[in-house]
Amino acid sequence: MKAPWHALLGTLPESRLLDSVAEFTHHRDIDALDHSVVLSLAELVPVTSVTLCKRGDTPQHPVESIVVCSRNAEGGLVVEAIEPDREGDPIDTMVCAMETLEAISDITENGNSRLVIPILREHAAIGALMLEAPDSLYEVRSMVEGFARIYGNYSALLNESERDKLTGLYNRRSFEQRLQRLLKLQRQRARAASPEGEEQRQSLDHAAQLFLAILDIDHFKRINDTYGHVYGDEVILMLAQQMRASFRQGDVLFRFGGEEFVMLIEARDEDAAQSILDRFRRFVAGHAYPQVGHVTVSIGFARITENDYPEIVLDRADKALYFAKQNGRDAVHGYESLKARGELASSVALGSIDLF
Ligand code: GH3
Ligand code: MG
Ligand code: MG
Repeated sequence: MKAPWHALLGTLPESRLLDSVAEFTHHRDIDALDHSVVLSLAELVPVTSVTLCKRGDTPQHPVESIVVCSRNAEGGLVVEAIEPDREGDPIDTMVCAMETLEAISDITENGNSRLVIPILREHAAIGALMLEAPDSLYEVRSMVEGFARIYGNYSALLNESERDKLTGLYNRRSFEQRLQRLLKLQRQRARAASPEGEEQRQSLDHAAQLFLAILDIDHFKRINDTYGHVYGDEVILMLAQQMRASFRQGDVLFRFGGEEFVMLIEARDEDAAQSILDRFRRFVAGHAYPQVGHVTVSIGFARITENDYPEIVLDRADKALYFAKQNGRDAVHGYESLKARGELASSVALGSIDLF
């Protein structure tokens, strides 16, 4: 007869544990880290599944992402990202652990043991790890807590390297990876919206396409020259906060450098993208910034699909931005409609974004 798995765990060589930790902290990007931490735990403990849930920014979106490692019919381990906007017991339980900062140990409806450990950073939960197994998880609790602590520390480091120091938005370095992540998510959604999944398709209607927008503050040199760099920085900071508050949770915002921002936004079509961006442009134009007063922004955008080279799309959005700058500023232009109207033929792109 096989020994119970927790008895096996008692004899788990320390080197295997260390190997496992070394393996998942070897990654330099958050997605690979998330993938690896659930897989490592599932390899160490004979679970039916290990789930990593990451906390969202707002109470309306308590969960940002979910990665699950589970066993397939052949007993092999499979890792997949699942939609964070689902509701139901496992997610609610992880949200509860994140809110109370307390571990949860209970039995699921199908009789499995379940252990949920919040992942803490500076006295708040950034996520939770959840294990489900046919046998008690009591013996592995302190090991899972250790994994949660190491994950919390390491992801903080990775997170800092992805963010712009002044605004906290993503920095340019993380652009390519964030873009690929978003395209992958769209691919998964498209697959879920297969012809028989009519209901799902309707709910995904809003997220049909991805657009890349570049925003540049108008006459920013004047702001610096008139009020000084400190006030200039303050405008950049406030604008970033306003962007965060105005765009949807799934949209990804970057400070590319100076007073230039890049946004990856989901919209039904070019008209819808235009109106989302235009609403933000109008909001900025109508806002009075401390000391500096009114500020305007120009935005250029272009559609992006997984078949496009990001540099080409950045260049298109930049051409549309350049057009806005040449035609009075405080405006939003889409590359495709400019092109269809023949407006780009004469404008030689002197793009502000340094592409390579
Ligand atoms: P335009 O409407 O054509 O965009 O005019 P502009 O004056 O904004 O010109 P441009 O975008 O080319 O120049 C931006 C200026 O922003 C150049 C630089 O002095 C300033 N700048 C760049 N980075 C920072 C920063 O981090 N803080 C502050 N305060 N100023 C910055
Ligand atoms: Mg600029
Ligand atoms: Mg500018």
